[in-house]
Amino acid sequence: MIISRKRDFQELLENIKNYKSFFLIGCSECASLCSTGSEKEVKELSETLRAEGKEVTGGIVAKTGCQVLGTKKDLKPYKDEVNNAECILVMSCGAGTQTAVDLFEDKPVYATNDSLFLGNMTRFQVFDERCSMCGKCILDRTGGICPITTCPKGLLNGPCGGMKDGHCEVSPDIPCAWVRIYERMKKLGKLEELSGSVLDAKDWSTAQSPRALSAREKKGK
Ligand code: SF4
Ligand code: SF4
Repeated sequence: MIISRKRDFQELLENIKNYKSFFLIGCSECASLCSTGSEKEVKELSETLRAEGKEVTGGIVAKTGCQVLGTKKDLKPYKDEVNNAECILVMSCGAGTQTAVDLFEDKPVYATNDSLFLGNMTRFQVFDERCSMCGKCILDRTGGICPITTCPKGLLNGPCGGMKDGHCEVSPDIPCAWVRIYERMKKLGKLEELSGSVLDAKDWSTAQSPRALSAREKKGK
C-alpha cells in the first residue's frame, strides 16, 4: 500500500489562501488505512476549514482514488457540489491527487497529504517500507527480503563493513537487511545458493520514470 501522511495544516492553508470554497475527495483504500483520507478525516478537515471561514461544498471518499474512471463515477452524484467549489482538495496519495487533475481540467487541485513510500502495515497503523518498485524484482535471490529497500545503502551483496551485532550502521535501531537475508536463507537450507552467487549490478533503466503499463490482453493471441 501507499503510505501517506497529512501535511501541516498551516502549510495547506497557505497553499489555498486564494480560494474560499472546496470540495474534498478522500480514498477508501490506502489513505483510509493511514488515517489521511477516510470518512473521519474528510469530516474533520471540512470542520477545520469551516472554522477558518472557508466554505466546504461537499466531500466524498472515493472507492479507489487512483482509479480515474471509478472516481469519475463516484463523483457523478456530486456534480453541483463540485461545480460550486472553486478548488478540489484531495486526501489520498499523489496518484489520487492526479486523478482529480485528470478529471477537473478547469479547477485547481491541491494535495492535503504527502506520499511517503510503498509499505506494509505491520501493526495497526505502523508502516514499514518494503519495496522501491525497482522494476526488476530480485526477491527470489534474497530469501524474499528486499535489500534495495531495507538496506539504507541498497547494497546488493552485503553486509557492509559497518554492520554491528546484526544491526545496521546507518540506522542502528533496525536489523541489518543482509543479516536478515542470511538468517532466512540459513533457515530455509539455502545458504549455498547465497554464497554461490553474486548479484549483478542493478540495471536501473527498469526504474526510469515515467513508467506506464497496459495489462490488457492483446487481441488475436
Ligand atoms: S527487488 Fe525491486 S521490485 Fe523487488 S521488492 Fe525490492 S524494490 Fe521491490
Ligand atoms: S549494515 Fe547492513 S543494512 Fe546497514 S547499510 Fe550495511 S549492509 Fe545495509
